[in-house]
Amino acid sequence: MSNDTDWQESVKNGVDPEEVEQTRALAADADRVVVKAGTNSLTDAESNLDDEKLDKLVDDIADLHAQDKDVILVSSGAVGAGIGRVGYDSDTVEESQALSTVGQSYLMQRYTESFDRYDRKIAQLLLTQHDLENPERFTNVRNTIETLLEWGIVPIVNENDAVATTEIRIGDNDMLSASVAIGVDVDLLVTLTDVDGVYTGNPERDPDAELIEAVGRNYDAVEEIIDESSTTVFGGIQTKVSGAREVSEHGIPAIIARSTEPDVLEKIAGAKPVGTVFVPINGVIHD
Ligand code: GLU
Repeated sequence: MSNDTDWQESVKNGVDPEEVEQTRALAADADRVVVKAGTNSLTDAESNLDDEKLDKLVDDIADLHAQDKDVILVSSGAVGAGIGRVGYDSDTVEESQALSTVGQSYLMQRYTESFDRYDRKIAQLLLTQHDLENPERFTNVRNTIETLLEWGIVPIVNENDAVATTEIRIGDNDMLSASVAIGVDVDLLVTLTDVDGVYTGNPERDPDAELIEAVGRNYDAVEEIIDESSTTVFGGIQTKVSGAREVSEHGIPAIIARSTEPDVLEKIAGAKPVGTVFVPINGVIHD
């Protein structure tokens, strides 16, 4: 159907190449970056924490540190690592919460060891919706993060799954990372995942699905595509796109990229064409 193809073409190339280039340059110049890593970027098929994946993520972050950039890591993987550690998958929310407490401490142990290779200390921040919504609490979180960054310590943020019931759940770390990026005033959000970025269809089912290099004015069409193409409701590509969009609406560039891409963060810092970039809105590049 040629109409479909035309439509896909216009989504794929829906952003002015100059804007894409400017956004990549802005992303490369970022002094302060939020990096969000999902469970699939940290665990293997059996839900064991994957040392190689975790070390790769830390190596990538070290590449940014080597360029004197500040990094705040938003890391999932608590429930996932807990499943592998306890050897049991949860049937209930309560069990997932309990598994998260096992996995979270193990995750932090592994991050401590991995960052030690670079002589970097880490810090753990576990947040809930209340902490993001309440200005006083959020100011405290921000001050803590600022102090840690001043000390050269890497803040590692996750949702406090043990206390987060449905009413106070942030939902997923894609939205948490967006709130942190906006609230702490960073210059870039990078969401690392198991696909190269946002596609014109579901890449797992549709061999013709193509990577969308940039999201800007084509946002509504992109949203329509991902609504149709995605099967996962929780933490799927939709929430990554919503998080990146929210950040870009605050004038901050965002990039969704594959965690296994070699030197992924270094490439972004070199303005290389990696992942899908979200063009900042609010007058920074276009309005
Ligand atoms: N907080 C959850 C965990 O660490 C993950 C939430 C998400 O993946 O978005 O397991």
